[in-house]
Formats: sequence, structure tokens, C-alpha cells
Amino acid sequence: MLLAAWLATTTGRSFYIERLKEEVRERALLIQPTITTLSRGQDQPLQEFVRQTGRRAATRITVIDHDGVVLADSNEDHLLMDNHATRSEVVPALAGETGYSLRESKTLGESMLYAAIPIELRTSGHRGVLRLAIPTTPVEAMLISLQWRMFGIGLAVIGLAALFSLYCARRISRPLEEMKRGAEQLTRGRIDQLVKISSENMSLEMAGLAGSINQMAEQINRRIRIIIQQRNELEAVFSSMADSVVAIDADKNIIRMNQAATALFALPSEVVKGKAVQGVIRNAYLLEMIDCTLIHNTQQAQKITLYNGTDPIILQTHTVPLRDEDNKSMGVLLVMNDLTKLNRLEHIRQDFVANVSHELKTPITAIKGYVETLLDGALDDQDNARRFLEIVVRQANRLDAIVDDLLTLSRIEDQSNTKEITLTKGEVGPVLESALQTCALQADEKNITVQIECDKEILAAINQPLLEQAVINLLHNAIAYSPQDSRITLRCAGSKTMRGEELVHLSVADNGPGIAKEHLPRLFERFYRCDKARSRDQGGTGLGLAIVKHIAQAHDGTVEVESIPGKGSTFSITLPATIK
Ligand code: ADP
Repeated sequence: MLLAAWLATTTGRSFYIERLKEEVRERALLIQPTITTLSRGQDQPLQEFVRQTGRRAATRITVIDHDGVVLADSNEDHLLMDNHATRSEVVPALAGETGYSLRESKTLGESMLYAAIPIELRTSGHRGVLRLAIPTTPVEAMLISLQWRMFGIGLAVIGLAALFSLYCARRISRPLEEMKRGAEQLTRGRIDQLVKISSENMSLEMAGLAGSINQMAEQINRRIRIIIQQRNELEAVFSSMADSVVAIDADKNIIRMNQAATALFALPSEVVKGKAVQGVIRNAYLLEMIDCTLIHNTQQAQKITLYNGTDPIILQTHTVPLRDEDNKSMGVLLVMNDLTKLNRLEHIRQDFVANVSHELKTPITAIKGYVETLLDGALDDQDNARRFLEIVVRQANRLDAIVDDLLTLSRIEDQSNTKEITLTKGEVGPVLESALQTCALQADEKNITVQIECDKEILAAINQPLLEQAVINLLHNAIAYSPQDSRITLRCAGSKTMRGEELVHLSVADNGPGIAKEHLPRLFERFYRCDKARSRDQGGTGLGLAIVKHIAQAHDGTVEVESIPGKGSTFSITLPATIK
């Protein structure tokens, strides 16, 4: 705008000056003949014409002789005026051309446009100069005011444009700021407080961009939720795995350890994260396996025994290389499966088979031996034959008893596993009485008194035949191992635990020889006997207490023994009073 204003005014000014030059020259040409004519006569008429014409035309008129002397002037006394021969407009006129000059008049003190044309002066017969001048000040003033006005308009336009730009910039920057805030929330991972960018009051392009950002944010949000869910699922799987799992990075630092692993090494899980594996796992074989997998990038498997506490832990261990998506090794996954329990069970199974075989073998060998002796001729010896056959019957009974007890055990185990044993709430007293009746004859033989101390109202969740069997077994042992004329007490009593659970305790206490302390932990194992010979003499199978233990477990109960060698033993069964 300012440049246009400057151009317009300068062009207008030069155009106007050109027009003015023309006009002044034409005016000069118009009065030229009159001046020539008047110059032939007196000075006075010429002077008068110049003054009057000048005033009428608002033009300064000067007549100059060929030597620069002013002959007449419309505004000044020509006699007082200096020589004009050197004036820039006069010089070309004296040479026969039209001369122009735009300058400040020394005489009038204002900006004037001078035009000088050569004329014929009769007085001197020489060429003179007719000079006309008109002031340019009004035009200049008008042009300056025009310039100022345009400058003002320019400034106003700049101001308006600035305001408009500010408005536009705000309209663009506000949604941009909103988008920036939204993006920041995303980068901070605050997906629940995602800023939804409104597309109202926005330009079309901005609204489109906002829409795309919203969509992108929602997609990222959805993906993050899926990732979080998957991570939580993996976390749950990882931590609830029964196997111990340790993830180790390529620098042999622990990345993660699941609960089973931290329990195995008796460490808090938060402490081990980021620690060097050597500081946590102090087993040379395990460390070697980890090294081997890291170096050779291959799986390793080994059975290892750990000695962390008092009991050794047998572990089946595997190390697997951890690979990233580019199949590059990024560490090792150590998986440890605790085989201790399985091993113990395997030992129990092996022991059991060996024990059963041994227990069965003894009577079978005896039967075989005596039958062969009979067949070899002893059959003819009446006395011996009868004795041998009685032994064969006794051994056969023993075999029968062992097989019966084994069958009972396996039936109870089976029914416990398949939850076939039904428990009903019933009185415990009659069970004790019934068991006593079964063993009464055996007790009488040794003149043993059996006393029942039981409140008849005591109820428990019981399977009557099974519980009776358990009490018979305990009573049978008590009678068998007690001396003649002694006393056995059958008791039952109720109690309440801290958690308000009601329990019933059944106990069989005798004054027999008691059991040495070292036998107590293994007493309820199958075929375990403190004194093998004595037990066999008593006709025991070594399975009686194992059956009691299984019956107690089938009732959700426990069995315990307290014994002081030389003083007697007390076997107690504890059962819940109510059905769960
Ligand atoms: P058994 O048929 O040999 O009696 P049990 O399983 O019933 O087998 O008992 C295991 C062992 O516990 C017995 O061999 C015996 O040594 C010991 N025992 C059981 N009850 C008593 C008791 N009341 N007094 C002393 N020892 C007992």
C-alpha cells in the first residue's frame, strides 16, 4: 500500500509538473506578441501590461533583456532586481530554447515553476526572454496531504490485517494446542484421560486433522488396552505356574522370577529383579546350564539336587534360549520342575511293592515248605502231619488277613479319591460300644478291662462302618500289645478351634509297653512295625494303623499318637463335628 501510494504521488507529481510546464509555456506564447509590440514603445505600458496580466492570471511575468537585465516584472520593481542572465531557465531561452526550472524563488520565498521562452524585443533589436512562473506549493501541499492520507489508510489496513491474522492464527493454534495436549496425554500413557478434540469452530482442514488424531488416539488406546490385558493374562499365567520359572537377560541379570521360583530360593520377588543371576542362584550346575545355553544358543536339560534348606530338593531343570522377533538371542528361560514329592511317592511305591512281596512271600514260603514236607512222606506221620497242616492253615489265614487288609486299604483310598464315602451326622458313643463288643472276646482272653468315657450326645460327621473299623483296629492293637489284667480307656470329647470349628476327639489309651520315639513318625506307614517278630506273633499284618490313617483322612480328620515307652500309648482320631 505504501509503495503504491509513493508511486502514485511521485507519478502524479511529475505528470502534474509536466502539465504545468505546458500550461505556463502556452500562457507565455499567448502574451508573447503583446510583449513584443509593447517593448517597442515606452517602458511604462509594458510594465503596466505585465503587472495586470500577471495579477489576472495569478502568474508572475518577467521580461528580461538579452543581457539578463530585467525589463519588467509583474510582482517586483524591475529596477531593483538583480541580473537574471544566469538563472537556469533563462540560459536555454537566451540560446533560443524553452527553459524550465523548478525551484524556490529568492524573491518570493516559495516553490515556483519557471518557464522561459525567447522573444523578439524591439527596443534593443535583440533577442530577449519572456519568463512566466506559477507557484507549485498548493500542489505540493495537496500531494503531501494525499501521501499522509494514504499512509494513514495503509496503517489502518495493516492494523486490520494484523487483527485478522491474529484471529486466524488463534483459530489455527487453539485446536493445534488441544491436539498437542491430547498427544502429550497419550505419550504419558494416560489413556483413561484422553483429550477428545472437538471439531467445532475449526477450519475444515483442522477438523479433518482433529478427526484423524482422535481416531489414532482411540486406536492406540484400544491397542494399549489389549496389550495391558494380554500382559496381565501372561502375568497371571507366569506367576501361577506350578513350575519355577526364571527369565535371565543376555548379561546374566534376572528379568523376572515367578512366585514358585522365589519360593524355591526363599527370596522376595521384588528384590531379585535386575540382580546378577550368580547372586541369586548359587548352584554351579544351574549356572553352567545358563552359560551353556547363552553361548551355544541351545536347550539344556538336567536333573539337579538343591540343598537350600534341610531337605534336598530334586529338580528337573530346562534352560531354553529366549529369542526376540528377529530370532536373536536375548537371554535364557530357566524352568525348574520340583520332583521331590514325585520322587518320594515313587520311593513309597517301590517300598510298598517290596514290602507286599516280602509280606506275602513269608507265609507262602512257609506253606510251600510244609506242604512239600508232607508230600515227601511226613503225611504218614500222623502227629507231625496234623501240626504241619495247622501251620499251613495259620499261614494261609495270615495271607488272607494281609490280602483283606490290602483290599480294605485300596477300597478306602479309591472311595476317598472318588468321594464315594458318605458322611452323616451321627452319635459317636454307639460306634465305640460296637467296636468294644467286637473286641470283647480278645480282651477277656487277657483279662483286660476296657472302659468307655463318652458323652452319648456327642455328634460327628461320620461314616459309621468305617469309623468302627478304625476304632476296632486301635482297640485290637491296644489289647494285643497290653499286658494281662491291664486297663484300656476309650474316650470321646468335643472341642472348638480358634476359628469356631467344632471337633470331636476319639482316643484309645492303654498301659502297654509304649513305642520308642524314633518309630512315631513312621508308625502309620504301610507294613511299618516296631518289632517285626512280635507283631507277627500277634497276627498283625502291619496295615492296621495305615487303614486307621486313611479312614481318618476320609473323614477330613487326622490321627495322632502319644506314647511313653514303658507307660503306655494313646492313639487319637480327630474329626470335624459337622459335615462340610
Ligand atoms: P500290626 O498289624 O503289626 O499291629 P499296625 O499298623 O496296627 O500293624 O501297627 C504297627 C506297629 O505299631 C505295630 O507293629 C506295633 O509295633 C506298633 N503298635 C501299634 N499299636 C500299638 C500299641 N497300642 N502299643 C504298642 N505298640 C503299638
